[in-house]
Amino acid sequence: MSVVKVFNKGYDPATGIGELLHTTSVRHAFGMIRRGVADPVELTLAGDDIVPTALELTRELSGAWVEGEGRRSVGFSFRAVHERDHWTCAYCGRSVSKTPPCSALLATVDHIMPVSRGGASSWTNLVSACRDCNGRKADRTPEEAEMPLRFAPYDPAVAYRVGGHVEVIPGIPEALAA
Ligand SMILES: [Zn+2]
Repeated sequence: MSVVKVFNKGYDPATGIGELLHTTSVRHAFGMIRRGVADPVELTLAGDDIVPTALELTRELSGAWVEGEGRRSVGFSFRAVHERDHWTCAYCGRSVSKTPPCSALLATVDHIMPVSRGGASSWTNLVSACRDCNGRKADRTPEEAEMPLRFAPYDPAVAYRVGGHVEVIPGIPEALAA
């Protein structure tokens, strides 16, 4: 199966020099092109089809996401969870902050699977939540509390935001990129 290279914006097709971010499947590559996240910069013929072998992102990734050896990661902290979630409660969608207009909107970090039941303090088990929703959910899962998540948490080390989309490297469910 063919693999498509994904370069950061700034790829030079004449020299082939660019910042290689990761590789992806042809299917995912077409999805990225369709969503306007990336443009094809190298094509090849596969049978009767023209398929991309390299893409260039349409918008440059922010330096904040870059860290060592081409891997992208962000230091983990509760604050970083709020920043990832844009200081938005994952349950009610209201804006949360450290200095809210009312105490119900105080920014808290919710363990989707409660700590008391073995839930980890990890990128994919934590979301931003207002104090109201966090208190109401208590030691229950979103299903038990009938409080569905409005967005899926993701690990920024394996995903990055481009033009409002979360792009996910292979192996991570594509549903997260919706
Ligand atoms: Zn809330």
